[in-house]
Amino acid sequence: MWKNRFWQAELWALLFILFVLGLIGSLFDKAALLIAVVLFFYLLWQLVQLSRLFHWVFISKAIYPPSAPGVWGEVFNQLYSRQRKHRKDLKKLNNIVSEFRDSTRALKEGAMIISNLGQIRWFNKASAKLLGLKPSTDIGQRLFNLLRHPDFIEYEAVRDYGKPLTIPSPIDGEIMLSISITPYNKDQRLVIIRDITEKHHLERVRQDFVANVSHELRTPLTVITGYLEMLDPDMNPNLAAVSKPLAMMRQQALNMGHLVDDLLLLSKLDSKAEANGHKEIDINLLLDSICAEARALSGDKNQSILFHSHTNATLKASEKQLRSAFSNLVFNAVRYTPANGKINIYWQETETHLIAKVEDNGPGIDPEHIPRLTERFYRVDAGRNRSQGGTGLGLAIVKHVLEYHKAELKIVSAAGKGSCFCCYFPKD
Ligand code: ADP
Repeated sequence: MWKNRFWQAELWALLFILFVLGLIGSLFDKAALLIAVVLFFYLLWQLVQLSRLFHWVFISKAIYPPSAPGVWGEVFNQLYSRQRKHRKDLKKLNNIVSEFRDSTRALKEGAMIISNLGQIRWFNKASAKLLGLKPSTDIGQRLFNLLRHPDFIEYEAVRDYGKPLTIPSPIDGEIMLSISITPYNKDQRLVIIRDITEKHHLERVRQDFVANVSHELRTPLTVITGYLEMLDPDMNPNLAAVSKPLAMMRQQALNMGHLVDDLLLLSKLDSKAEANGHKEIDINLLLDSICAEARALSGDKNQSILFHSHTNATLKASEKQLRSAFSNLVFNAVRYTPANGKINIYWQETETHLIAKVEDNGPGIDPEHIPRLTERFYRVDAGRNRSQGGTGLGLAIVKHVLEYHKAELKIVSAAGKGSCFCCYFPKD
Protein backbone atom coordinates (compact mmCIF):
# COMPACT_ATOMS: atom_id res chain seq x y z
CA MET A 1 0.00 0.00 0.00
CA TRP A 2 2.76 2.45 0.97
CA LYS A 3 4.43 1.91 -2.39
CA ASN A 4 1.49 3.68 -4.06
CA ARG A 5 2.48 7.32 -4.87
CA PHE A 6 -0.80 8.74 -3.49
CA TRP A 7 -0.26 7.16 -0.11
CA GLN A 8 3.37 8.30 -0.06
CA ALA A 9 2.35 11.88 -1.03
CA GLU A 10 -0.36 11.86 1.68
CA LEU A 11 2.09 10.68 4.31
CA TRP A 12 4.82 13.14 3.34
CA ALA A 13 2.38 16.05 3.17
CA LEU A 14 1.05 15.20 6.66
CA LEU A 15 4.53 14.84 8.10
CA PHE A 16 5.66 18.10 6.43
CA ILE A 17 2.69 20.08 7.76
CA LEU A 18 3.17 18.65 11.25
CA PHE A 19 6.88 19.45 11.12
CA VAL A 20 6.40 23.06 9.91
CA LEU A 21 3.59 23.74 12.39
CA GLY A 22 5.63 22.08 15.13
CA LEU A 23 8.51 24.49 14.32
CA ILE A 24 6.25 27.54 14.22
CA GLY A 25 4.44 26.42 17.39
CA SER A 26 7.75 25.90 19.23
CA LEU A 27 8.57 29.61 18.57
CA PHE A 28 5.51 30.49 20.70
CA ASP A 29 5.88 27.52 23.00
CA LYS A 30 2.56 26.09 21.62
CA ALA A 31 3.83 23.23 19.40
CA ALA A 32 1.71 20.47 20.99
CA LEU A 33 -1.48 22.53 20.82
CA LEU A 34 -0.93 23.47 17.18
CA ILE A 35 -0.21 19.83 16.21
CA ALA A 36 -3.32 18.65 18.12
CA VAL A 37 -5.50 21.23 16.32
CA VAL A 38 -4.07 20.19 12.93
CA LEU A 39 -4.59 16.51 13.70
CA PHE A 40 -8.17 17.24 14.80
CA PHE A 41 -8.99 18.97 11.48
CA TYR A 42 -7.20 16.22 9.57
CA LEU A 43 -9.34 13.60 11.32
CA LEU A 44 -12.48 15.64 10.62
CA TRP A 45 -11.58 15.76 6.93
CA GLN A 46 -11.05 11.99 6.89
CA LEU A 47 -14.47 11.47 8.49
CA VAL A 48 -16.12 13.69 5.89
CA GLN A 49 -14.53 11.65 3.07
CA LEU A 50 -15.53 8.41 4.80
CA SER A 51 -19.13 9.58 5.01
CA ARG A 52 -19.05 10.54 1.29
CA LEU A 53 -17.78 7.06 0.51
CA PHE A 54 -20.50 5.48 2.65
CA HIS A 55 -23.15 7.62 0.97
CA TRP A 56 -21.92 6.74 -2.52
CA VAL A 57 -21.63 3.00 -1.88
CA PHE A 58 -24.70 2.35 0.23
CA ILE A 59 -27.17 5.21 -0.20
CA SER A 60 -26.89 7.07 -3.51
CA LYS A 61 -27.60 5.27 -6.78
CA ALA A 62 -24.99 7.40 -8.60
CA ILE A 63 -22.74 5.50 -10.96
CA TYR A 64 -19.85 7.94 -10.74
CA PRO A 65 -18.01 8.41 -7.41
CA PRO A 66 -17.61 11.79 -5.70
CA SER A 67 -14.38 13.58 -6.53
CA ALA A 68 -11.77 14.09 -3.85
CA PRO A 69 -8.14 15.12 -3.74
CA GLY A 70 -5.23 12.89 -2.80
CA VAL A 71 -5.57 9.43 -1.42
CA TRP A 72 -9.38 9.59 -1.19
CA GLY A 73 -9.57 10.37 -4.92
CA GLU A 74 -7.47 7.27 -5.51
CA VAL A 75 -9.76 5.17 -3.26
CA PHE A 76 -12.86 6.41 -5.13
CA ASN A 77 -11.26 5.74 -8.53
CA GLN A 78 -10.16 2.23 -7.59
CA LEU A 79 -13.60 1.40 -6.25
CA TYR A 80 -15.24 2.83 -9.36
CA SER A 81 -13.09 0.77 -11.77
CA ARG A 82 -13.73 -2.37 -9.72
CA GLN A 83 -17.43 -1.69 -9.75
CA ARG A 84 -17.31 -1.20 -13.52
CA LYS A 85 -15.49 -4.51 -14.00
CA HIS A 86 -17.96 -6.25 -11.72
CA ARG A 87 -20.87 -4.79 -13.71
CA LYS A 88 -19.30 -5.97 -16.96
CA ASP A 89 -18.77 -9.49 -15.55
CA LEU A 90 -22.33 -9.54 -14.29
CA LYS A 91 -23.64 -8.52 -17.69
CA LYS A 92 -21.56 -11.23 -19.35
CA LEU A 93 -22.87 -13.79 -16.86
CA ASN A 94 -26.45 -12.63 -17.39
CA ASN A 95 -25.97 -13.01 -21.14
CA ILE A 96 -24.65 -16.55 -20.67
CA VAL A 97 -27.56 -17.43 -18.36
CA SER A 98 -30.15 -16.02 -20.75
CA GLU A 99 -28.51 -17.79 -23.72
CA PHE A 100 -28.59 -21.03 -21.71
CA ARG A 101 -32.25 -20.40 -20.84
CA ASP A 102 -33.13 -19.72 -24.48
CA SER A 103 -31.36 -22.86 -25.66
CA THR A 104 -32.91 -25.10 -22.98
CA ARG A 105 -36.30 -23.57 -23.76
CA ALA A 106 -35.80 -24.49 -27.42
CA LEU A 107 -34.77 -28.08 -26.51
CA LYS A 108 -37.26 -30.78 -27.46
CA GLU A 109 -35.88 -32.97 -24.69
CA GLY A 110 -36.85 -32.27 -21.13
CA ALA A 111 -33.89 -31.24 -18.95
CA MET A 112 -34.10 -31.03 -15.20
CA ILE A 113 -31.70 -30.58 -12.29
CA ILE A 114 -32.51 -32.43 -9.09
CA SER A 115 -30.65 -32.70 -5.81
CA ASN A 116 -29.30 -35.92 -4.39
CA LEU A 117 -32.53 -36.28 -2.40
CA GLY A 118 -34.56 -35.81 -5.56
CA GLN A 119 -35.70 -32.21 -4.96
CA ILE A 120 -36.34 -30.36 -8.21
CA ARG A 121 -34.06 -27.34 -8.56
CA TRP A 122 -34.72 -26.34 -12.16
CA PHE A 123 -36.48 -27.67 -15.27
CA ASN A 124 -37.03 -26.47 -18.81
CA LYS A 125 -40.25 -25.96 -20.75
CA ALA A 126 -40.17 -29.41 -22.39
CA SER A 127 -39.95 -31.13 -18.95
CA ALA A 128 -42.96 -29.15 -17.81
CA LYS A 129 -44.87 -30.31 -20.89
CA LEU A 130 -43.78 -33.96 -20.75
CA LEU A 131 -44.28 -34.42 -17.01
CA GLY A 132 -47.03 -31.86 -16.42
CA LEU A 133 -44.95 -29.76 -14.00
CA LYS A 134 -45.53 -26.15 -12.95
CA PRO A 135 -42.54 -23.97 -12.01
CA SER A 136 -44.60 -22.05 -9.44
CA THR A 137 -45.54 -25.12 -7.39
CA ASP A 138 -43.13 -27.91 -8.30
CA ILE A 139 -39.68 -26.34 -7.81
CA GLY A 140 -38.43 -27.73 -4.50
CA GLN A 141 -40.77 -30.75 -4.60
CA ARG A 142 -39.30 -34.25 -4.72
CA LEU A 143 -39.46 -35.60 -8.27
CA PHE A 144 -40.25 -39.06 -6.91
CA ASN A 145 -43.43 -37.72 -5.29
CA LEU A 146 -44.59 -36.35 -8.62
CA LEU A 147 -43.54 -39.29 -10.78
CA ARG A 148 -44.87 -42.28 -8.89
CA HIS A 149 -44.48 -45.03 -11.49
CA PRO A 150 -43.17 -48.19 -9.69
CA ASP A 151 -40.38 -48.68 -12.27
CA PHE A 152 -39.19 -45.14 -11.63
CA ILE A 153 -39.25 -45.63 -7.86
CA GLU A 154 -37.18 -48.81 -8.29
CA TYR A 155 -34.81 -47.06 -10.74
CA GLU A 156 -34.21 -44.43 -8.08
CA ALA A 157 -33.83 -46.96 -5.28
CA VAL A 158 -31.23 -49.01 -7.17
CA ARG A 159 -29.49 -45.93 -8.62
CA ASP A 160 -27.98 -47.90 -11.48
CA TYR A 161 -28.21 -45.29 -14.20
CA GLY A 162 -26.34 -47.31 -16.87
CA LYS A 163 -29.44 -47.59 -19.06
CA PRO A 164 -32.30 -45.12 -19.53
CA LEU A 165 -35.68 -46.06 -18.12
CA THR A 166 -38.84 -46.22 -20.22
CA ILE A 167 -42.10 -45.28 -18.50
CA PRO A 168 -45.42 -43.75 -19.55
CA SER A 169 -45.88 -40.03 -18.98
CA PRO A 170 -47.88 -39.19 -15.82
CA ILE A 171 -50.11 -36.86 -17.86
CA ASP A 172 -50.89 -39.26 -20.72
CA GLY A 173 -50.30 -43.02 -20.58
CA GLU A 174 -49.99 -43.11 -24.37
CA ILE A 175 -46.84 -40.96 -24.29
CA MET A 176 -43.75 -43.07 -23.59
CA LEU A 177 -40.79 -41.36 -21.96
CA SER A 178 -37.17 -42.37 -21.79
CA ILE A 179 -35.57 -41.01 -18.63
CA SER A 180 -31.83 -40.93 -18.05
CA ILE A 181 -30.15 -39.57 -14.97
CA THR A 182 -26.54 -38.39 -14.75
CA PRO A 183 -25.12 -37.49 -11.34
CA TYR A 184 -22.64 -34.60 -11.31
CA ASN A 185 -21.00 -32.54 -8.56
CA LYS A 186 -21.65 -33.94 -5.11
CA ASP A 187 -25.30 -33.12 -4.79
CA GLN A 188 -26.69 -32.62 -8.29
CA ARG A 189 -28.25 -34.87 -10.88
CA LEU A 190 -29.16 -34.02 -14.45
CA VAL A 191 -32.36 -35.69 -15.66
CA ILE A 192 -32.97 -35.90 -19.42
CA ILE A 193 -36.49 -36.82 -20.54
CA ARG A 194 -37.20 -37.84 -24.14
CA ASP A 195 -40.50 -38.54 -25.83
CA ILE A 196 -39.98 -41.96 -27.46
CA THR A 197 -43.64 -42.71 -28.19
CA GLU A 198 -43.01 -43.18 -31.91
CA LYS A 199 -39.98 -45.43 -31.41
CA HIS A 200 -41.85 -47.40 -28.77
CA HIS A 201 -44.83 -47.78 -31.08
CA LEU A 202 -42.62 -49.03 -33.95
CA GLU A 203 -40.93 -51.48 -31.59
CA ARG A 204 -44.33 -52.77 -30.48
CA VAL A 205 -45.46 -53.12 -34.10
CA ARG A 206 -42.29 -55.12 -34.82
CA GLN A 207 -42.81 -57.34 -31.77
CA ASP A 208 -46.48 -57.88 -32.61
CA PHE A 209 -45.57 -58.67 -36.21
CA VAL A 210 -42.98 -61.28 -35.20
CA ALA A 211 -45.35 -62.75 -32.61
CA ASN A 212 -48.27 -62.88 -35.07
CA VAL A 213 -46.22 -64.36 -37.91
CA SER A 214 -44.75 -67.00 -35.60
CA HIS A 215 -48.19 -67.80 -34.28
CA GLU A 216 -49.72 -68.00 -37.76
CA LEU A 217 -46.89 -70.30 -38.92
CA ARG A 218 -47.68 -72.77 -36.20
CA THR A 219 -50.91 -74.12 -37.70
CA PRO A 220 -49.60 -74.83 -41.23
CA LEU A 221 -46.46 -76.28 -39.69
CA THR A 222 -48.48 -78.66 -37.52
CA VAL A 223 -50.44 -79.77 -40.60
CA ILE A 224 -47.24 -80.30 -42.64
CA THR A 225 -45.55 -82.22 -39.80
CA GLY A 226 -48.68 -84.35 -39.36
CA TYR A 227 -48.81 -85.30 -43.03
CA LEU A 228 -45.06 -85.93 -43.11
CA GLU A 229 -45.48 -88.34 -40.23
CA MET A 230 -48.15 -90.18 -42.17
CA LEU A 231 -45.80 -90.45 -45.15
CA ASP A 232 -43.64 -93.04 -43.43
CA PRO A 233 -41.56 -95.14 -45.91
CA ASP A 234 -41.34 -97.93 -43.29
CA MET A 235 -45.12 -98.32 -43.35
CA ASN A 236 -45.57 -97.57 -47.03
CA PRO A 237 -43.03 -99.31 -49.32
CA ASN A 238 -44.19 -97.16 -52.28
CA LEU A 239 -42.43 -94.22 -50.65
CA ALA A 240 -39.04 -95.93 -50.44
CA ALA A 241 -37.75 -93.96 -53.44
CA VAL A 242 -38.47 -90.62 -51.73
CA SER A 243 -37.47 -91.65 -48.23
CA LYS A 244 -34.42 -89.33 -48.23
CA PRO A 245 -36.26 -86.17 -49.29
CA LEU A 246 -39.02 -87.06 -46.82
CA ALA A 247 -36.49 -87.38 -43.99
CA MET A 248 -35.01 -84.01 -44.94
CA MET A 249 -38.46 -82.42 -45.04
CA ARG A 250 -39.17 -83.86 -41.59
CA GLN A 251 -35.89 -82.46 -40.25
CA GLN A 252 -36.51 -79.02 -41.78
CA ALA A 253 -40.07 -78.95 -40.43
CA LEU A 254 -38.66 -79.79 -36.99
CA ASN A 255 -36.09 -76.97 -37.28
CA MET A 256 -38.80 -74.58 -38.34
CA GLY A 257 -40.89 -75.65 -35.34
CA HIS A 258 -37.96 -74.82 -33.04
CA LEU A 259 -37.49 -71.48 -34.76
CA VAL A 260 -41.16 -70.60 -34.34
CA ASP A 261 -41.04 -71.63 -30.66
CA ASP A 262 -37.92 -69.52 -30.07
CA LEU A 263 -39.40 -66.52 -31.86
CA LEU A 264 -42.57 -66.80 -29.79
CA LEU A 265 -40.57 -67.04 -26.58
CA LEU A 266 -38.48 -64.01 -27.53
CA SER A 267 -41.52 -61.91 -28.30
CA LYS A 268 -43.01 -62.92 -24.96
CA LEU A 269 -39.79 -61.86 -23.26
CA ASP A 270 -39.79 -58.59 -25.22
CA SER A 271 -43.29 -57.76 -24.08
CA LYS A 272 -42.56 -58.86 -20.48
CA ALA A 273 -45.77 -60.88 -20.64
CA GLU A 274 -45.02 -63.23 -17.74
CA ALA A 275 -44.21 -60.61 -15.16
CA ASN A 276 -46.13 -62.31 -12.35
CA GLY A 277 -45.16 -65.95 -12.94
CA HIS A 278 -42.22 -66.01 -10.50
CA LYS A 279 -41.91 -68.68 -7.81
CA GLU A 280 -39.10 -70.39 -5.86
CA ILE A 281 -37.33 -72.78 -8.22
CA ASP A 282 -35.19 -75.71 -7.10
CA ILE A 283 -32.29 -75.17 -9.51
CA ASN A 284 -30.65 -78.51 -8.61
CA LEU A 285 -33.76 -80.31 -9.75
CA LEU A 286 -34.04 -78.18 -12.87
CA LEU A 287 -30.41 -78.60 -13.96
CA ASP A 288 -30.53 -82.32 -13.17
CA SER A 289 -33.50 -82.85 -15.45
CA ILE A 290 -31.87 -80.72 -18.21
CA CYS A 291 -28.76 -82.92 -17.88
CA ALA A 292 -30.87 -86.02 -18.40
CA GLU A 293 -32.36 -84.47 -21.56
CA ALA A 294 -28.86 -83.47 -22.69
CA ARG A 295 -27.67 -87.09 -22.35
CA ALA A 296 -30.57 -88.17 -24.56
CA LEU A 297 -29.68 -85.46 -27.10
CA SER A 298 -26.03 -86.47 -27.01
CA GLY A 299 -27.08 -89.99 -28.14
CA ASP A 300 -24.12 -92.03 -29.27
CA LYS A 301 -21.58 -89.17 -29.07
CA ASN A 302 -20.25 -90.73 -25.88
CA GLN A 303 -19.92 -87.36 -24.14
CA SER A 304 -19.46 -87.10 -20.39
CA ILE A 305 -22.23 -84.82 -19.12
CA LEU A 306 -21.98 -84.19 -15.38
CA PHE A 307 -23.89 -81.94 -13.03
CA HIS A 308 -22.04 -80.63 -9.94
CA SER A 309 -24.25 -79.10 -7.30
CA HIS A 310 -22.40 -76.97 -4.72
CA THR A 311 -25.42 -75.30 -3.14
CA ASN A 312 -29.08 -75.95 -2.41
CA ALA A 313 -29.99 -72.32 -3.01
CA THR A 314 -33.24 -71.73 -4.86
CA LEU A 315 -34.13 -68.84 -7.18
CA LYS A 316 -37.32 -66.81 -7.34
CA ALA A 317 -37.85 -66.90 -11.06
CA SER A 318 -39.97 -68.00 -13.99
CA GLU A 319 -39.37 -71.73 -14.28
CA LYS A 320 -40.30 -71.88 -17.95
CA GLN A 321 -37.86 -69.13 -18.84
CA LEU A 322 -35.01 -70.50 -16.73
CA ARG A 323 -35.51 -73.97 -18.20
CA SER A 324 -35.34 -72.46 -21.66
CA ALA A 325 -32.16 -70.44 -20.90
CA PHE A 326 -30.27 -73.28 -19.18
CA SER A 327 -31.40 -75.82 -21.82
CA ASN A 328 -30.07 -73.56 -24.56
CA LEU A 329 -26.66 -73.38 -22.88
CA VAL A 330 -26.47 -77.11 -22.11
CA PHE A 331 -27.82 -78.23 -25.51
CA ASN A 332 -25.39 -75.86 -27.29
CA ALA A 333 -22.56 -77.50 -25.36
CA VAL A 334 -23.82 -80.93 -26.44
CA ARG A 335 -24.23 -79.87 -30.07
CA TYR A 336 -20.92 -78.04 -30.49
CA THR A 337 -18.72 -80.38 -28.42
CA PRO A 338 -17.43 -83.28 -30.51
CA ALA A 339 -17.81 -86.98 -29.58
CA ASN A 340 -16.10 -88.07 -26.34
CA GLY A 341 -16.06 -84.46 -25.14
CA LYS A 342 -16.64 -83.35 -21.55
CA ILE A 343 -19.49 -81.12 -20.42
CA ASN A 344 -19.71 -79.97 -16.80
CA ILE A 345 -22.63 -78.09 -15.35
CA TYR A 346 -22.32 -76.30 -11.99
CA TRP A 347 -24.71 -74.67 -9.55
CA GLN A 348 -22.71 -72.74 -6.99
CA GLU A 349 -22.77 -69.75 -4.72
CA THR A 350 -20.43 -66.89 -3.74
CA GLU A 351 -20.98 -64.18 -1.16
CA THR A 352 -22.75 -61.98 -3.67
CA HIS A 353 -24.03 -64.26 -6.42
CA LEU A 354 -25.63 -67.58 -7.33
CA ILE A 355 -23.94 -68.97 -10.41
CA ALA A 356 -25.09 -71.48 -13.03
CA LYS A 357 -22.14 -72.49 -15.19
CA VAL A 358 -21.94 -74.65 -18.33
CA GLU A 359 -18.42 -75.66 -19.29
CA ASP A 360 -17.31 -77.74 -22.26
CA ASN A 361 -14.06 -78.75 -23.91
CA GLY A 362 -15.46 -78.24 -27.40
CA PRO A 363 -14.11 -76.10 -30.26
CA GLY A 364 -14.33 -72.81 -28.34
CA ILE A 365 -15.08 -69.43 -29.86
CA ASP A 366 -12.72 -66.77 -31.24
CA PRO A 367 -12.71 -63.60 -29.07
CA GLU A 368 -13.98 -61.38 -31.92
CA HIS A 369 -17.28 -63.31 -32.00
CA ILE A 370 -17.95 -63.30 -28.26
CA PRO A 371 -19.46 -59.79 -27.92
CA ARG A 372 -21.93 -60.54 -30.76
CA LEU A 373 -23.02 -64.07 -29.75
CA THR A 374 -26.18 -62.90 -27.99
CA GLU A 375 -27.45 -60.99 -31.06
CA ARG A 376 -30.43 -62.57 -32.78
CA PHE A 377 -29.39 -64.94 -35.60
CA TYR A 378 -25.68 -64.37 -35.01
CA ARG A 379 -23.75 -67.53 -35.72
CA VAL A 380 -20.00 -68.12 -35.75
CA ASP A 381 -20.25 -70.45 -38.71
CA ALA A 382 -23.73 -69.99 -40.15
CA GLY A 383 -23.84 -73.00 -42.52
CA ARG A 384 -22.42 -75.52 -40.07
CA ASN A 385 -24.44 -74.35 -37.10
CA ARG A 386 -27.72 -74.38 -39.01
CA SER A 387 -27.01 -77.98 -40.08
CA GLN A 388 -26.63 -78.81 -36.38
CA GLY A 389 -30.19 -77.73 -35.79
CA GLY A 390 -29.55 -74.34 -34.17
CA THR A 391 -32.00 -71.49 -34.70
CA GLY A 392 -29.48 -68.73 -34.02
CA LEU A 393 -31.76 -67.43 -31.26
CA GLY A 394 -30.58 -69.57 -28.33
CA LEU A 395 -28.13 -67.14 -26.74
CA ALA A 396 -30.41 -64.16 -27.47
CA ILE A 397 -33.05 -65.97 -25.40
CA VAL A 398 -30.51 -66.67 -22.64
CA LYS A 399 -29.50 -63.00 -22.51
CA HIS A 400 -33.12 -61.84 -22.41
CA VAL A 401 -34.13 -64.31 -19.71
CA LEU A 402 -31.14 -63.31 -17.59
CA GLU A 403 -31.77 -59.60 -18.07
CA TYR A 404 -35.36 -60.21 -17.10
CA HIS A 405 -34.13 -61.83 -13.87
CA LYS A 406 -31.56 -59.05 -13.31
CA ALA A 407 -28.78 -61.54 -13.93
CA GLU A 408 -25.81 -61.40 -16.26
CA LEU A 409 -24.26 -63.76 -18.81
CA LYS A 410 -20.46 -63.98 -18.98
CA ILE A 411 -18.81 -65.97 -21.75
CA VAL A 412 -15.23 -67.14 -21.42
CA SER A 413 -13.91 -68.97 -24.45
CA ALA A 414 -11.01 -69.26 -26.83
CA ALA A 415 -10.71 -71.19 -30.09
CA GLY A 416 -9.59 -74.76 -29.38
CA LYS A 417 -9.88 -74.34 -25.61
CA GLY A 418 -13.54 -75.00 -24.90
CA SER A 419 -16.17 -72.57 -23.63
CA CYS A 420 -17.68 -71.53 -20.34
CA PHE A 421 -21.07 -69.81 -20.15
CA CYS A 422 -21.76 -68.38 -16.67
CA CYS A 423 -25.06 -66.96 -15.46
CA TYR A 424 -24.61 -64.62 -12.47
CA PHE A 425 -27.72 -64.08 -10.35
CA PRO A 426 -27.15 -61.34 -7.76
CA LYS A 427 -28.31 -62.22 -4.23
CA ASP A 428 -30.77 -59.66 -2.89
P1 ADP B 1 -27.46 -71.55 -32.47
O1 ADP B 1 -28.88 -71.86 -32.49
O2 ADP B 1 -26.85 -71.34 -33.80
O3 ADP B 1 -26.70 -72.44 -31.59
P2 ADP B 1 -27.06 -69.67 -30.37
O4 ADP B 1 -27.55 -68.28 -30.20
O5 ADP B 1 -27.47 -70.67 -29.36
O6 ADP B 1 -27.46 -70.09 -31.81
O7 ADP B 1 -25.49 -69.61 -30.41
C1 ADP B 1 -24.84 -68.64 -31.22
C2 ADP B 1 -23.53 -69.18 -31.72
O8 ADP B 1 -22.62 -69.31 -30.64
C3 ADP B 1 -23.66 -70.56 -32.28
O9 ADP B 1 -24.02 -70.50 -33.64
C4 ADP B 1 -22.25 -71.10 -32.11
O10 ADP B 1 -21.43 -70.70 -33.18
C5 ADP B 1 -21.76 -70.41 -30.85
N1 ADP B 1 -21.81 -71.28 -29.66
C6 ADP B 1 -22.79 -71.31 -28.74
N2 ADP B 1 -22.50 -72.20 -27.77
C7 ADP B 1 -21.30 -72.73 -28.07
C8 ADP B 1 -20.44 -73.69 -27.46
N3 ADP B 1 -20.77 -74.31 -26.33
N4 ADP B 1 -19.27 -73.98 -28.08
C9 ADP B 1 -18.93 -73.38 -29.22
N5 ADP B 1 -19.69 -72.46 -29.84
C10 ADP B 1 -20.86 -72.13 -29.30
